[in-house]
Amino acid sequence: MSESYYSATAKEKFTTSKLCENLITDVCIIGGGIVALSCAQTLNENGISVAIIEKGQIFSGASGLNGGFVVPGYSLGLNEIEKKVGLEDAKELFEATIKGVNKVKNNILLYKLDSTKMEPGKLDLLRYRPSIKELNYPEMMARNYGYKIEQMEKEKVQGLLNTDAYCHGFFHPKGFHIHPLNYGFGLACQLEKDGVKFYERSKVKFIKKTEEGYKAVCSSGDITCQEVVVCTGGYPGDEPREIKKSILPITTYVVTSEPNDKIPNNYIKTKYALGDNRRASDYYRLVDDNRVLWGGRITAFPANNTKTIENKIRKDISNVFPELSNIKFSYSWSGVMGYATHKMPYIGQLKNGIWYCTAFGGRGLGSGTACGDIVARAVLGKTDQLKLFKNFNLQKNYGVFGKIAVEATYKRYIAKDYMKERSQKNNYWSKK
Ligand SMILES: Cc1cc2nc3c(=O)[nH]c(=O)nc-3n(C[C@H](O)[C@H](O)[C@H](O)COP(=O)(O)OP(=O)(O)OC[C@H]3O[C@@H](n4cnc5c(N)ncnc54)[C@H](O)[C@@H]3O)c2cc1C
Repeated sequence: MSESYYSATAKEKFTTSKLCENLITDVCIIGGGIVALSCAQTLNENGISVAIIEKGQIFSGASGLNGGFVVPGYSLGLNEIEKKVGLEDAKELFEATIKGVNKVKNNILLYKLDSTKMEPGKLDLLRYRPSIKELNYPEMMARNYGYKIEQMEKEKVQGLLNTDAYCHGFFHPKGFHIHPLNYGFGLACQLEKDGVKFYERSKVKFIKKTEEGYKAVCSSGDITCQEVVVCTGGYPGDEPREIKKSILPITTYVVTSEPNDKIPNNYIKTKYALGDNRRASDYYRLVDDNRVLWGGRITAFPANNTKTIENKIRKDISNVFPELSNIKFSYSWSGVMGYATHKMPYIGQLKNGIWYCTAFGGRGLGSGTACGDIVARAVLGKTDQLKLFKNFNLQKNYGVFGKIAVEATYKRYIAKDYMKERSQKNNYWSKK
């Protein structure tokens, strides 16, 4: 696949050296994605010395490759969370992600990260006529979670999107979208100025217990620290083994079209972040130069033939906008999301002094920022919010069998979406 649209258009720059010394710091964070930066920011603000070690470059993992949608919530749906932990804890878990979304927004405003091109509004699109229960969703979210969602009738949706694929919309005024790589680079520059140490192209090979605490060992240097926080997302190294064995790495795909004035003029007449409510969903948005950035599809085994994936996404686009069936792509790329089998993040302590904060799946910008802050405050002994995640422990990924199960589930999702959309004529509204 080609370079990502984000790296081709990055306005911010951030690079730093390899770890070639024996450094002493309070906390060492492994991984250089959005979770790591959020954790480092909170620790640094509390006077703790922090070093981030990244095996590639800062934000070269999922954090710099994603759709750029910043919305509250987790990969696991709120109703499932509520079933597992009850309404009160579900509320607290959801509120934490609202804080994460606000933290991203505040960083953009505070550090004047204009190149993130923050655009407000996220619109969830229904591919079938909603049931009465679904129409009550905004009211339930306002009542139970104090979160505002607005109904958008089909006619209004069609005024924004020239397609009859959608029957209804739920608009999230607090959601927004960004150029995620510019966010990462801009925030890293700021944190470095504030004293956080960064090392790139430095893979932590193992973590050793020492008299002083721990030593994170790379090939040409090491970091001695009191505490280690593992934030390795869908790209975990071999150590700690417990984390590697608990992550399901799932690859997902994004394309960006060639510039085409017809896209905003005729088809996508809004700058909102857009996504349908399928289980196997498509999401898209307009980006600079009148291009559409479109994401979707997942594989548990990375795709060998990327042209096949591009063709599948082209088919997904023409399924919504038939006139765009010959759309040409300038960029196409993939990224890896780390999932737990329960679809909630892993956040906790492996043993005294070794913490983990990972597995944000396809919803890491808001929730990853939130949990990076929570784990930092747990390291500082300033929160008991880790208890909210006690029902979501590390679970085995079952190796290749886990991946086969993921692919089977994804195919089942596609089939279920198809059946649901076909059966729409039997629902309440069509009987009226
Ligand atoms: C294509 C795509 C689209 C997505 N769209 C959205 C979206 O629109 N909105 C949203 O909220 N979420 C989205 N997500 C999910 C979101 O990007 C992730 O949940 C989030 O970025 C995870 O952040 P992270 O810091 O945990 O992991 P990452 O950003 O993946 O960072 C982990 C880092 O750890 C490093 N690492 C691993 N092992 C070691 C080691 N041993 N030593 C040193 N470094 C190491 C890796 O190199 C990597 O850079 C999407 C993901 C993908 C892939």
